[in-house]
Amino acid sequence: MTERAGSAHEWLARAAAWMPETRAFIDGGFVSFAGATRFETIAPRDGSVLALIEDGGAPAVDAAVAAARAAFDDGRWRRMPPRQRAEIMRRFADLVLEHRDELALAEPLDVGKPIAEASTTDVNETAEAIRWYADAIDKVHDEVLSSPEHALLTVTREPMGVIGAIVPWNFSIIIAAWKFAPALATGNSVVLKPSELSTLPALILARLAAEAGIPDGVFNVVPGLGDSVGSALARHPDVDKIAFTGSTATARRVVMDAAGSNMKAVSIEAGGKSPHVVFDDVEDWERLVDTIAGSIFYNAGQACTAGSRVLVHESVHERLVADLVAKAASWMPGDPLAAATQMGAIASRRQLDGMLAKLDANRSGAVVTGGRAVAPVAGGFYLEPTIIDGVDTAAPIAQEEVFGPVLTVSTFRDEGEALRLANDTVYGLAAGVWTGSLSRAHRFTRELRAGIVWANDFNALGIDRPFGGVKGTGAGRDKGVQALTQYTTTKTSWVDFRGA
Ligand code: NDP
Repeated sequence: MTERAGSAHEWLARAAAWMPETRAFIDGGFVSFAGATRFETIAPRDGSVLALIEDGGAPAVDAAVAAARAAFDDGRWRRMPPRQRAEIMRRFADLVLEHRDELALAEPLDVGKPIAEASTTDVNETAEAIRWYADAIDKVHDEVLSSPEHALLTVTREPMGVIGAIVPWNFSIIIAAWKFAPALATGNSVVLKPSELSTLPALILARLAAEAGIPDGVFNVVPGLGDSVGSALARHPDVDKIAFTGSTATARRVVMDAAGSNMKAVSIEAGGKSPHVVFDDVEDWERLVDTIAGSIFYNAGQACTAGSRVLVHESVHERLVADLVAKAASWMPGDPLAAATQMGAIASRRQLDGMLAKLDANRSGAVVTGGRAVAPVAGGFYLEPTIIDGVDTAAPIAQEEVFGPVLTVSTFRDEGEALRLANDTVYGLAAGVWTGSLSRAHRFTRELRAGIVWANDFNALGIDRPFGGVKGTGAGRDKGVQALTQYTTTKTSWVDFRGA
């Protein structure tokens, strides 16, 4: 299907006719729970109530985990020939593309993402992740270790069982697919808990998974609040693993809940405060400026790999700030449903208020552009692209994740200082160095403490490349063949076949 982005008016007309599903998807169908509460999901585009979503709480989680366990135990999915599983997952990927408009529309309405992005990046990368892991199913092999003549020693990879996937709202369907696709490919059952801010796209995916032929009980989606559904899933005694992406604060609670219940495995992808280290010998200045601006203003800065800290050599500092301020003007927020919009809304009133509070409390450096809430659509939640220059690298604004379109700029004098400042963060997701010196680029990619590093680029990402961090960002890896090992466990088997 081709990519389409009609006028904001057309998208609004579609939105008006849209009846989104708001119930949990368990054991192959949408279900309601007696005693379920309902919560409002607000459209950040204009502050209106988009839908009332059911939160079935612990009973819904119990039902989903029981369905997932039953499906795992009877082997309806994990025992299916790998090629057949791959076929079904490919059909799932095709259906994601075929329902491009429906999935894309949910994003600007639910979280304020620009429609042009949602209908391309979000839909395409979700389908790509599902297809990539479908294609990987029969390409990962087990091992035969050296064995004596009378025995066979093998190490086989087996699915873990029931995987609880807890995901955020910023790239809701892409990050969900980074987890459920390798989990399904390796034969597990999944219970997905979307963020309360982005439930609707996940429920569309559930419907498409069933339509593709994923057997009942294998893929379940339970909407609800973090403290009810999220916590119940993390504490559940019959969940074998939690694959989590979200903030470091929530990650800590998930790890403690896992440890306090059945010691389930946990993989964590949490926050970031990723630096751009800019030297005075950058070869392509224009691309540098474009890339830095894109890395912090794309998705309104609500990206875990947002390049939120610039550390620049003092000799090119003034030039860089002037160019970034000029570039920021092209990222002014607009209506998420308008095709030309590059930067949409902030996902919720709470997120926007948190950003404004951090800006208000900041006492370091000077705001050289932005800093104010604006309203290209009345009632909506928007923040201007913001740059703060001359920031003390120890200040909270340079240390804490803002998760918004806010860039800090600080200077350094030499390479040693640049490296020390770049690594001076509790996080360790991504980092970039900009320099014309090949040896310096190599030194930095070795010494930067982050799970993903780039030299003379930023956010060069792909489904084939492992994604995750170190330090406070956590210890999991999404994407790449490495992710397959996150959903399997090894079994060492020794068979002695000596006769009597
Ligand atoms: P949160 O930590 O608030 O939420 C993440 C998920 O956890 C949501 O589904 C949330 O549900 C759920 N949750 C909340 N409380 C609990 C709980 N007690 N037990 C179990 N689950 C719970 O993060 P955000 O959704 O606000 O996402 C932004 C954060 O995610 C940022 O810090 C960002 O850096 C990080 N992130 C990291 C990425 C990475 O790969 N490293 C990628 C993308 C984002 P609910 O929404 O209903 O509260």
